[in-house]
Amino acid sequence: MIIFLFPLIYKVLTEVGALRLATYGREDCYVKLIKVHNATCPTNAQIVEEELNRFYSSAVVNWNVSIGETITEDELPNLNYDDFLTGNVGMVSSYTSVMRRIYKYYNRTYGNDKNTLYLFFINHPNPDKAGFMPVAGDYGFIFNFGKDYRNNFEILAHELAHGAFNLRHPFSLKSTYQLPRGSTDNLMDY
Ligand SMILES: [Zn+2]
Repeated sequence: MIIFLFPLIYKVLTEVGALRLATYGREDCYVKLIKVHNATCPTNAQIVEEELNRFYSSAVVNWNVSIGETITEDELPNLNYDDFLTGNVGMVSSYTSVMRRIYKYYNRTYGNDKNTLYLFFINHPNPDKAGFMPVAGDYGFIFNFGKDYRNNFEILAHELAHGAFNLRHPFSLKSTYQLPRGSTDNLMDY
């Protein structure tokens, strides 16, 4: 299956892009990928960068990807995996305590850049979703990355659209556009 930006996200992103083009030129976005415990996490930032920039090619956005420090099990033991389960319907707007524990630990230990988004990679025994990132959030969580190469990069692009561009699911009650869930092939419709 060929995945590309469908009209809804295309429209929103080009509006965002056009607005920024008028004032700043091409917008650089920064994202850091962090492996938690033994999770599968990309090790080649360049590949992720190319994949994200392909999803966002119609928008005036240029992703810059880097690999952050791994959080080992010795550093942060006994993660409560049940606490990652927020349900896969709709949009949860705040982080759970295990999510806060992870990003606070990372910030405290390795620092935090205000212009960077952070994606934490988690291997979960029984995940209820592929990714989680609140609208306008600085931190995202990706579950069990690597099972399907192409779908996994779509998940990254999707979650980053929540965090970086405040995009909601088209079926969300708070969305500008009210569309039934699963009625489009839009990147944000799942
Ligand atoms: Zn989403």
